[in-house]
Amino acid sequence: MINKTPLQFIRQLPKAELHIHLEGAITPDTVLELARRNNCLDTLPACDEEGLQKWLMFSDFWHFIAVYLAVSNLLRTPDDFALITYQLGADMAAQNILYREVTLTPYTHVDFQDKGLAIHDLLTGLEQGRQAACKDFGVEMRWVFDIPRDMSFMDGDGRYNPLPAEKTLEYALLGRKYGVVGLGLGGSEVNAPALPFAHAFEDARCEGLWRVPHAGETMGPASVWEAIDHLYAQRIGHGVRSIQDPQLVKTLAERGIVLEINPTSNIRLHIYEDYAMHPFRQLDKAGVLVTVNSDDPSLFNTTLTQEYGVLAKHFGYKKPDLIRIARNAFQYAAVEEPVKTRLLERFDTHQNVQS
Ligand SMILES: [Zn+2]
Repeated sequence: MINKTPLQFIRQLPKAELHIHLEGAITPDTVLELARRNNCLDTLPACDEEGLQKWLMFSDFWHFIAVYLAVSNLLRTPDDFALITYQLGADMAAQNILYREVTLTPYTHVDFQDKGLAIHDLLTGLEQGRQAACKDFGVEMRWVFDIPRDMSFMDGDGRYNPLPAEKTLEYALLGRKYGVVGLGLGGSEVNAPALPFAHAFEDARCEGLWRVPHAGETMGPASVWEAIDHLYAQRIGHGVRSIQDPQLVKTLAERGIVLEINPTSNIRLHIYEDYAMHPFRQLDKAGVLVTVNSDDPSLFNTTLTQEYGVLAKHFGYKKPDLIRIARNAFQYAAVEEPVKTRLLERFDTHQNVQS
């Protein structure tokens, strides 16, 4: 193998990313541009990039959700969605990311925030950006529409409101011809159990959508068990706290349920105090299929390239393991089969040329 520094090697490695939120990938300069376009600068706590960066240094999960909703509120028109999708594609080209499965929360944009945006506007904007990025940068993107789980329990009486799940499923099915491949479940797991969402995930399964809920981030193993037992999860967003339950780790490994792990996100949201405490390596060693992802790169001040750097620097991974983990992201993508085969061939060809 040609001798390169780990960073050079990681930069040139063809990559796929399975866990990234569209709303969390908008750069501070674009946040400002969107606010100016839509005359809502007054909704932001700062009107320069430096001030915005400071605001993004959240103190806890709830501050993070507040930032997230404020950024979502700036996305008002099909052109706004086309712009940020196109920028995500440009970023893929810059990082040599061939494929991204991007999560977004249509219920927030169409129903929760009163912006006058219809699902058709949202889908049209996403598709415009996706096609333009594919044409200009040769990158592939697919979408996961996720249900905001805490918005499904917002009345304060602990009662489940099925509307967010029903609407999100409806939008995901409408969006299939525009590249929607999966149904997710996001937001805080605290006081928001997975079982009530089983109806939506059962329908998703029948319709051939992938089931990719978040679990095992803000809550422990019980939340991951629920995602497996009631939501037919094929991949789990985060899932890192599964490490607390050896039987769960064994089940994940045996059933080939993939974890979409986001190390820097976990540190920034204080799931773990530092990288030394993070269980990435233990989960991998136990035979769980792991991938590495950036989650909300702009909000966590990271990139996918940097997350691979974390694997090398903090978890001690060498090139063969980095290649193995990178390949997992292609292998377990929800993209349709002819495209997946083509992407895997490109990935494998790159390794053969390098060796
Ligand atoms: Zn996430």
